[in-house]
Amino acid sequence: MIRLVLVGGGHAHLHVVERIADSRARGDGRWDGVEVVLVSAYPVHHYSGMLPGYLQGRYREEELRFNLQALARAAGIRFREGWVDRVEVFGGGGGAAGVGPHATSASGTQPAGQVHLDGESIPFHLASLDVGSVAGGTAVPGVREHTIALRPTSRAVELARRLEGLQRRPGPVEAVVVGAGAAGFEVVLAVAERLSRAGSSRESSQGRVTLVEAGPEILPEFSERVRRRGLAELGRWGVEVQTSTRVSRVEEDGVRVEGPHGESRLPSHLTVWVAGAAPSPLLAASDLPLARSGFFQVNGALQAADDTPVWGAGDCIELAGFPWMPRAGVYAVRQAPVLADNLEMAVEVLRSGGGSERPPRTYTPQTSFLSLLNTGGGRALLRWKGVVALGRWPWWLKDWIDRRFMTRYHGLEKLGMEVGPDPAGAGERGE
Ligand SMILES: Cc1cc2nc3c(=O)[nH]c(=O)nc-3n(C[C@H](O)[C@H](O)[C@H](O)COP(=O)(O)OP(=O)(O)OC[C@H]3O[C@@H](n4cnc5c(N)ncnc54)[C@H](O)[C@@H]3O)c2cc1C
Repeated sequence: MIRLVLVGGGHAHLHVVERIADSRARGDGRWDGVEVVLVSAYPVHHYSGMLPGYLQGRYREEELRFNLQALARAAGIRFREGWVDRVEVFGGGGGAAGVGPHATSASGTQPAGQVHLDGESIPFHLASLDVGSVAGGTAVPGVREHTIALRPTSRAVELARRLEGLQRRPGPVEAVVVGAGAAGFEVVLAVAERLSRAGSSRESSQGRVTLVEAGPEILPEFSERVRRRGLAELGRWGVEVQTSTRVSRVEEDGVRVEGPHGESRLPSHLTVWVAGAAPSPLLAASDLPLARSGFFQVNGALQAADDTPVWGAGDCIELAGFPWMPRAGVYAVRQAPVLADNLEMAVEVLRSGGGSERPPRTYTPQTSFLSLLNTGGGRALLRWKGVVALGRWPWWLKDWIDRRFMTRYHGLEKLGMEVGPDPAGAGERGE
């Protein structure tokens, strides 16, 4: 029996799960004799594209939630809830197990390594990582204790609850969002919209929502035209923008900042930390090749750069030759079919005990993508190549794309709920 362990239920692995479900439903035999285990920190995952809409109150939580356990069940995959803290590769990595897509080793029945979680281990012949990233900049004192960081995205549920509580709170409400990249921009607008409904907006003249950014401008990854429109939207919702401003400390009820005019303190009932992405500590603790950035270094086939039989996709990787690749869900989604193809090929190689006739599929990141930023109030800001548009129709387009994406998985989830317990009686904590 070959065992493939999928670590993390991120966007790319959802597609792999779907592919396995399709294959098993068709009975094409591609995944016969393969035990697939999906290990993820939580039994559910949330689609980040719909997070701002959820925070605004436009979507219910279940509309952006993936039930990983049910999806796994639909694909005949064993689900295991837990935090993986190390991926051990026997022989210390470097392709020692000889099971890469081109390998000709007959050692296929020997596990190549094991995944460690919660004091236990799961041996694997093949593994794949899609664990996303963690919040960056958390070394600033007080960040861990007093902010809500939106990585993993499931923390949005906690943020929505806090917003609900603040909406009911009498008197003016102050909120600070740190980080003015695309995610921080959308989140601050969602916070402002949500709080405005409770009368804590600029109209009350005392409530205040502030966006703090260390760099000189908001939306640094966008053009000047997009930034101008973005600033206008922030103004529309009464968000105060402080650029070239660094957070030096976060306290329970405020944020200390150092800006162009010296030090100051922003009172805050709610501080949200969206200041970039950092590598998961799991990566440094594992026997995997790392890029200088600390992310998992993979080659064009999305396999470990040293040919270890571990693949990766999404935020957790750095693709050789493309260190600029943004950490955005759209990249994880585009990598997914390449990852699925190459995992299928690796299974085939292991099964036959020989090499592969065809080369693995390679992934090349697109240099531009359709960007739709939810600006609140049923509007969105669209950027597509040279086109910039703001208003209602970009929101309708975004809503349609996002709902279509979720519908795909919700159908499979329903199937998983109908088929009964997980294979091997799992889906629980503990093997
Ligand atoms: C507020 C916000 C809005 C965003 N909006 C967009 C957008 O509109 N479009 C876009 O393209 N990108 C957006 N992004 C970025 C996007 O969320 C990420 O790029 C994307 O989620 C990365 O997908 P992934 O598959 O790498 O991992 P993730 O989606 O982060 O999934 C990782 C999974 O792995 C699990 N996991 C993590 N560590 C472990 C571990 N050690 N053991 C076991 N399981 C683990 C997690 O629980 C999670 O289920 C947004 C981000 C934020 C914060």
